[in-house]
Amino acid sequence: MNSSNSICIKEIVPNSKSVVINFSAGPELKRFFHQQSFFAEYDINIEAVPKSILVIPFLTNILPVAWANGIDIYVDELDCEFNEAVIDLKMAFKGLYPKLIKSNSNIIANRIVENKKWTGERTAQLFSGGLDSLATLVRKIDERPFLITICGADVSLNDRESWEIVQDYSKKIAEDTNTDVLFIKSNFKDFLNHSELEVKFGSIVNGWWTGVQHGLGLCGLSAPLTFAKEINAFYIASSHTSNYKLPYGSHPSTDNKLRWGSTRIIHEAYELTRQQKVRVIANYIKSDYSSLQIRVCWRAGSNGGNCSQCEKCSRTIVGLLLEGIDPNGHGFRIDSHFPMHVRSQFESNAWKLDEAVAFQWKDIQARIPENTNTINEQYLELFNWIQTYNFKDYQPGILLKAGGTVAKILPAKQKKFIKSLIGME
Ligand SMILES: [Zn+2]
Repeated sequence: MNSSNSICIKEIVPNSKSVVINFSAGPELKRFFHQQSFFAEYDINIEAVPKSILVIPFLTNILPVAWANGIDIYVDELDCEFNEAVIDLKMAFKGLYPKLIKSNSNIIANRIVENKKWTGERTAQLFSGGLDSLATLVRKIDERPFLITICGADVSLNDRESWEIVQDYSKKIAEDTNTDVLFIKSNFKDFLNHSELEVKFGSIVNGWWTGVQHGLGLCGLSAPLTFAKEINAFYIASSHTSNYKLPYGSHPSTDNKLRWGSTRIIHEAYELTRQQKVRVIANYIKSDYSSLQIRVCWRAGSNGGNCSQCEKCSRTIVGLLLEGIDPNGHGFRIDSHFPMHVRSQFESNAWKLDEAVAFQWKDIQARIPENTNTINEQYLELFNWIQTYNFKDYQPGILLKAGGTVAKILPAKQKKFIKSLIGME
């Protein structure tokens, strides 16, 4: 019977375009939830989707909470492919976070269901309009993947204005690339109490959302859509390459284990650095899509557009300039003050880079020598400065924090690499 210290699904309430899942959390777990009710809304009819699939959006967002606390989750019906995937997923997360994941935590289902299989060729991808998801779209353009854009994470549920702009943006890209867009709204981030998760697990994990939840959670949220549309391959664009050695919430070792029905999740473009993705997009702009707009900025007040000022916007602008693309035609606005803006932000230490971002600036540095002829001469001085700037001046945060967990499992060569990144050598 259910342990009092478990997560138990009380009811799954399906509607034509949404699902609500009410659950109870045992006394020691309540503090990790703002609400014991989860919802996901879609913009297509999902009436034909069985409960064994409808429960996946919820499960993918609480599984790591259950694993970290060593507790069981009780469900009525579970898709058989997903049930098997969860066993692999737990081992994969344990590989990333040996100190976080407990072995004595399972999903206990009354019934394992074998759902219908399909053999179609439709694919889908998570789509924000940032460099990662745009590069994946360009690479998979012949498949015409459904673009799935989600409200409830980068765009918060109550920010209607930004959500409208983001929706318009995704629709335009879908129209211009001859594919379709699907939208999801969910409290999948808000229903968890991230502050409490940080209090308990912050010494092991670099942010619950980025470090643990987002890959599994974003993909799982799409399960009802992939079932309704009979999607076989579902892409989540990589954020990092294999050179990034720290645990992260979206990683090929975990994302690629996830599956349900006939849908397989694929962590896409792991072999490409951010600047290599800029090149993929720049080539597509030059060959096929001269009006492509890029959207990378989530800064408060940017209203679903790019502020063209923050570190992320600036890094993207510099990346585009380096590939011979004028950012002004692609979602950004810069003028002759831009080079000085970048220099002054770094020189005054206004931009605190974490390790991953510092790595991306170094990636830009490495590309400069081979692309000097492509750079507009108005920006040559900026690139000369970037090439000689020491991007080690940043916060070592996660590396120091994760040191105990990660550094121990790394080979000596990689330890040396990380130490050099954080300036310990
Ligand atoms: Zn910005």
